[in-house]
Amino acid sequence: MIPYGKQSISEEDIEAVVRILRSDFLTQGPAVPAFEQAVSEYCGARFAVAVNSATSALHIAYLSLNLGPGDELWTSPITFVATANAALYCGAKVRFLDVEPDSGNLSVENLGIRLRENRSRGLSLPKIVVPVHLGGLSCDMERVHALSLEYGFSVVEDASHAIGGRYQSTPVGSCRFSNITIFSFHPVKVMTTGEGGMAVTNDLTLAKRMNLLRSHGITRDPAEMTTSPEGGWYYQQIALGFNYRMTDMQAALGLSQLERIDEFVGRRNYLADRYDRLLANLPVGLPARRDDTLSAFHLYAIRIDEKTGKDRRYVFEALRDLGIGVQVHYIPVYMQPYYYELSEAAGELPEAGQYYKATISLPLFHSLSEDMQDRVIAALTGVLK
Ligand SMILES: *Cc1c(COP(=O)(O)O)cnc(C)c1O
Repeated sequence: MIPYGKQSISEEDIEAVVRILRSDFLTQGPAVPAFEQAVSEYCGARFAVAVNSATSALHIAYLSLNLGPGDELWTSPITFVATANAALYCGAKVRFLDVEPDSGNLSVENLGIRLRENRSRGLSLPKIVVPVHLGGLSCDMERVHALSLEYGFSVVEDASHAIGGRYQSTPVGSCRFSNITIFSFHPVKVMTTGEGGMAVTNDLTLAKRMNLLRSHGITRDPAEMTTSPEGGWYYQQIALGFNYRMTDMQAALGLSQLERIDEFVGRRNYLADRYDRLLANLPVGLPARRDDTLSAFHLYAIRIDEKTGKDRRYVFEALRDLGIGVQVHYIPVYMQPYYYELSEAAGELPEAGQYYKATISLPLFHSLSEDMQDRVIAALTGVLK
């Protein structure tokens, strides 16, 4: 089976992890701050906080922006459940908004309409809006940012798919148009630390809060304490935090992977362009492209045209039977039983429902060869005939 995604681990990656295993610190050593600095420099954001998953990064990002009971977080339903779950951890409500039909990204136009509508009716406005850069393609962040100034909400970019991507010639994660951006380093994503995530920001206060929350709310900085330290052993817990720390093994792997990030994204774009060319005559919608936006191409998701008379389930199962490990990203979160009564989604969102019905992710990863890709294309062509 050709999988839809797969990590790329080099000998250098392995050696970097082994060096940590032979060193003094397996966790809370020098590799984590080194990895944080490397990611913040790569993205052009001032601060970075490494954690044990993107889910944890979302949680501490939302908390540091004071999301709590009585608040609403608005996001796209075409995402992994973690984007929404982290808001529920904070006791907030989630409202799902409809998406763009071609990209599956949050529709900024629709966001504008919902905001205007709620303001004019005196209904609640979001505390945080979370654009998800689906498949690695950045949302139109400049327009989201303009709305955030008008309506007073914070913006967290869920860039779990998008490290190495660009928007307006700037790396995703620069936080030019957001308060915080988060990344995932799960093995299927663009680069990996096994499990792992990161939050980047230009705001020192938010960075400090996230730092505190990732490790029990404990500080060793005298300036943050309520009294002067009682001695060298002294620390204070000044907030309720968690153990969301990344290990040094993970950070060393991340540092080593980050050296190849542009190669990873370059290879993914090369294969995506090749898919675009070779699928051009099939009755499928190709992944959306946007001016001045470089997708990191975590996913290559096509949409099966209704005119084929073949539904997505048929295509999915036929391709799996042929050894092509296709996948679906994502079941709209409001369709999950746990969310039936919790979310503020006013029933079905038509574009999200339509996107879900048609979409299928084809294999795309660093070591996918052109031969393997040709097999995927031949299989798909046969199945759609
Ligand atoms: C993978 C993913 C997450 C969660 O990432 P973890 O590192 O597995 O916690 C969150 N949001 C999106 C869009 C994702 O794809």
